[in-house]
Amino acid sequence: MAKVAIVTGSGGGLGKGIAYRLGKDGFNIVLNDINQELVDSTLEEFKKDGLNVIAVTGDVSKREDQFNLVEQAVEAFGQLDVFVNNAGIDVVTPFMDVDEDQLNKAFSINVNGTVFGTQAAAKQFIKQQSKGKVINACSIAGHESYEMLSTYSATKHAVRSFTQSAAKELAADNIRVNAYCPGVAGTAMWDRIDAEMVKYYDHMQPGDAFKEFTDGILLGRSQEPEDVANLVSFLASDQSDYITGQAIITDGGIVLR
Ligand code: NAP
Repeated sequence: MAKVAIVTGSGGGLGKGIAYRLGKDGFNIVLNDINQELVDSTLEEFKKDGLNVIAVTGDVSKREDQFNLVEQAVEAFGQLDVFVNNAGIDVVTPFMDVDEDQLNKAFSINVNGTVFGTQAAAKQFIKQQSKGKVINACSIAGHESYEMLSTYSATKHAVRSFTQSAAKELAADNIRVNAYCPGVAGTAMWDRIDAEMVKYYDHMQPGDAFKEFTDGILLGRSQEPEDVANLVSFLASDQSDYITGQAIITDGGIVLR
């Protein structure tokens, strides 16, 4: 029977690239996004490409949506093997201006969402008594803290911490919990970061922030969704069975650990 993978926030961006790759690896795919229109168009695209796929709209910051997502996946495909907590948002603001709404929203999606997704997935893995894999979206900002990205960096450090604690608690249940830490990929998220940075720095033109962050990359280019999908594919496969509790950087050489 084909294995089943859920990827949250997979209507577009890195999540879409990850879901596509896992589909090509042979997984039955469950797409999820808060953006119904986007996820529906990705669903049609994947179906045309011959992938076995369903889509479930939901908000990862809502615990019941995450448990519903797992329920729908199991109803459609009979089991769950991999849960990718990919959905996440950015916050670009000078530290002194960060407000309550920004903090609450970023933590509720990036951190609470990851916790609830991991709980929902682990409950199902334990019920199935099968090996399970949770794979979380961290970031280079989960290893290094950036100016203008203080809230975002804090959420990603929290994701790395939860990845480690969950790996410790769930290992006895045959569940691995790891994270992927991308660098700078030109998705909608970076369009937003670039646009916000330009507002705060007078000397910057549109595109400058993205250029500044990508100029120093050792391997000489920004990141493509496929680069991230290569790592997630490995973490979802049996090849990574002896790895748990890790937050692995894939950034072309920005943050060296
Ligand atoms: P993206 O282009 O903004 O895509 C994220 C997707 O998640 C969007 O379709 C978004 O829908 C959806 N989403 C937002 N809030 C959601 C919620 N509450 N529930 C369900 N879905 C939700 O972002 P990305 O660049 O692909 O990033 C994906 C992950 O990688 C994030 O966790 C991010 O922090 C991490 N990451 C990205 C980069 C990078 O350079 N791009 C680097 C390091 C880490 P809407 O369009 O409606 O908001």
